Amino acid sequence: MNKLLITICPICDSKKIKKIIGNLNCKRDKHYFTVPNITYYFCQSCGEKLTDVENEIKIDNQRCCDSTHKQKKAA
Ligand SMILES: [Zn+2]
Repeated sequence: MNKLLITICPICDSKKIKKIIGNLNCKRDKHYFTVPNITYYFCQSCGEKLTDVENEIKIDNQRCCDSTHKQKKAA
């Protein structure tokens, strides 16, 4: 499968998608965290932040690291 390139917003069908490389604030399972130095897409029409599959994995890994770290400390 080819690398997914987001050119149209899946939320509002706008083509005003801007590619951004930087820190992305994420929310997963009521848990907020920042993924540093990630490539994501920002819709200038509805303000939605979009990530491709590769970066979704990166975000999930970051989330896992965070929770594992906390669980280890608590145990
Ligand atoms: Zn949009």
